[in-house]
Amino acid sequence: MSQSNGPVPRPGILDIAAYVGGEHHGTIRLASNEGALGPSPRAMEAYAQAAATLHRYPDGASAALREAIARRFGLDAGRIVCGAGSDEIISLLIRAYAGPGDEVLYSQYGFLMYPIGARSVGATPVTAPETDLTADVESLLSRVTPRTKLVFLANPNNPTGTYLPTSEIERLHAGLPPHVLLVIDAAYAEYMNRNDYTAGAELVERFPNVVMTRTFSKIFALGSLRIGWAYCPAAVADVLNRVRGPFNVSTAAHVAGIAAVEDTEFLERSRQHNEQWREWFTRQVRGLGLTVHPSVTNFVLVDFQGQKPGKDDAEAARQFLKGRSILVRQMPSYGLPSCLRVTIGTEAEMRAVVDALKAFLEG
Ligand SMILES: *Cc1c(COP(=O)(O)O)cnc(C)c1O
Repeated sequence: MSQSNGPVPRPGILDIAAYVGGEHHGTIRLASNEGALGPSPRAMEAYAQAAATLHRYPDGASAALREAIARRFGLDAGRIVCGAGSDEIISLLIRAYAGPGDEVLYSQYGFLMYPIGARSVGATPVTAPETDLTADVESLLSRVTPRTKLVFLANPNNPTGTYLPTSEIERLHAGLPPHVLLVIDAAYAEYMNRNDYTAGAELVERFPNVVMTRTFSKIFALGSLRIGWAYCPAAVADVLNRVRGPFNVSTAAHVAGIAAVEDTEFLERSRQHNEQWREWFTRQVRGLGLTVHPSVTNFVLVDFQGQKPGKDDAEAARQFLKGRSILVRQMPSYGLPSCLRVTIGTEAEMRAVVDALKAFLEG
């Protein structure tokens, strides 16, 4: 495309491959890791009630939402910053701490918003190879240079579904120079029930260069409202509050988010549902002879590699499922072209996917 006469964006922008979300025109939508049970009924009710005050600007400080989050997770509300999804928080962190010539480091199969954010400020995304689809601390540390400004680690990671235990996160942090900001993206933290896992809050409280990001889009199932948050050292919270939009989170998002985070019973039901059907689905799909990578999240990677010719084609399988109105996520943009990522949905949805995969393999 010629740019000779028109406005030209800054270097790096045209190197961005625009983020393509999961498809959403289908009856069974398992391409975007949205909570299987939908939003908490209490969140829906709060959202409906917000309609009467849509003419008012929201509270720019998101104070009530930050306080509800702080109560629920035992955190300091003063160090929470809310954003329009954790995507906004990720972009703001990169914008505030990196620029042209700087490097943003993340692991091989890390979330695609990290390189997109890096390129949009003219910084260079740098990846560190993983081992067994899992982030590798040595590999990450060996790629830190004097130009590294941020290290992003999704824990657990999307799309691999794997995680690093607390001891590994601590080792990663200990190996980083103090000027590097470690961002732990814990979008799937609420699905976890492992003793050796931390979402990262204690590290944030102990060190000036660790941030934890969270979202309401996954287990809380409020993706449409765009609510994310960061738990930060005070100086980082101050920086984010300077660069964010003054009214970046809407009133509807505030009230629905508060209701969702306070509905602990619904959250626990969602977590148990996920565990039960993730394990069931994994067993069934392995029973069909496909590889399913072990996952601690609300999605699994199904790998078609090694199937007989024609049945080893993940894209053909995706199209076959789509023909049955089942949407799952393609993985070429993550460098995993032999895999499909399948979100854990309702019981009926998971049974439909198993039936469809069986038909694909037998057809
Ligand atoms: C879904 C996801 C996010 C983004 O969530 P939003 O809050 O909806 O922007 C961030 N990080 C990871 C790893 C995700 O999978």
